[in-house]
Amino acid sequence: MLRQRMASVAVRTVNRVSRLTGNGSGTVIGGRVGMKIAPDLVASLARGRSTILVSGTNGKTTTTSMIVVGWGGEVTTNETGSNMPAGHVAALVASKNDRVALEVDEAWLGETLRSTRPKVVVLLNLSRDQLDRANEVRHLAERWRNALESHVDTSVVVIANANDPLVVYAAEPCANAVWCDVPTTWIADAMSCPKCTLAISHVGNSWHCNCGFAKPVNITSALGDELVIDGATIPLDLSMPGEFNRSNATMALTALHCLGIDLDEAVRRVNAIHSVVGRFSVRRWNGHTLRLLLAKNPSGFAAMLATLPEDGSDIWVAINARVADGHDPSWLYDVPFELLRGHRVYCFGERRLDLATRLDYGQVDYVVVDDDTALPTSKETISLLANYTAFHDWLAGSEP
Ligand SMILES: [Zn+2]
Repeated sequence: MLRQRMASVAVRTVNRVSRLTGNGSGTVIGGRVGMKIAPDLVASLARGRSTILVSGTNGKTTTTSMIVVGWGGEVTTNETGSNMPAGHVAALVASKNDRVALEVDEAWLGETLRSTRPKVVVLLNLSRDQLDRANEVRHLAERWRNALESHVDTSVVVIANANDPLVVYAAEPCANAVWCDVPTTWIADAMSCPKCTLAISHVGNSWHCNCGFAKPVNITSALGDELVIDGATIPLDLSMPGEFNRSNATMALTALHCLGIDLDEAVRRVNAIHSVVGRFSVRRWNGHTLRLLLAKNPSGFAAMLATLPEDGSDIWVAINARVADGHDPSWLYDVPFELLRGHRVYCFGERRLDLATRLDYGQVDYVVVDDDTALPTSKETISLLANYTAFHDWLAGSEP
């Protein structure tokens, strides 16, 4: 225990120094130092606390935030999005609440499951993302399944998206899988069966394979025009836009319901969320009013494009390809940018030419912005879609 205490002090000290010297929030560096001193630091810090883990390709940060807000009161969380063990250590050291909600990088779910022994795990979706860095998506589903199948704590409740065959494949062996029927438009990474490789038939709101692998039938939470959880209609009326946010909220509220939290109170708090770490926030920049939308991969972009007004308004898109984005921007070719025909798209970011080339192939009207002082002014709020580092550049460079 002395080693763990020393490690916790080290995490706090390093992070404080990092902040004071202007080297960032320091969450990751402090966590790394702590784990050098005590490799099992996550486990010792999480012991005895009620933990919810959230993983998936898209929606982790938003869903985790909805859980934190919906839970009410003090909840320990990694709100900066540092979602690997070093970030978890920093979050767990920084506040000692009994209640913990952590977002977890897809590749770290197995290890984090073992170390934190959560009460609830939320599995949102799996799709292609940063293939130059991350694992092939089917391999991830296999790893999730193995981790859940071999997990010693069989009381863990797994909240799983019943419309994503890869998530169903991962969660299927769990004794306590709770299935959520939420709209899931991106099925391009689950066209073939994870069990037998034959083609999956997607018919209406259902899917099945000839081998018998199919959408679960014992649905607990269903989201259509209304949200129904465990037979009760929940007044979901989000302040944030988009069908995918309604899906995220469904998963978050189902997780809280499984912990016995009163949903009438929880949904009221979730409905009031206007933005999550800048996402969906309205900002001012050089006389323009922008709504900032984060999208990092094809399925995330597809979800965001579906939220845009169909009025032919100008759309701004910013693309970088730094380490945190993945160096390879070829994923732009998997994004259904054809949906933007009828709009004019202004291309920003370090990879604006890659974006423009993609839009050219998609027969979308575009302007490459090399000089942002020459932009036409508009009284309307402009939707700005940006990938990870581009989003943070715009958030830092704009004003509330
Ligand atoms: Zn099959």
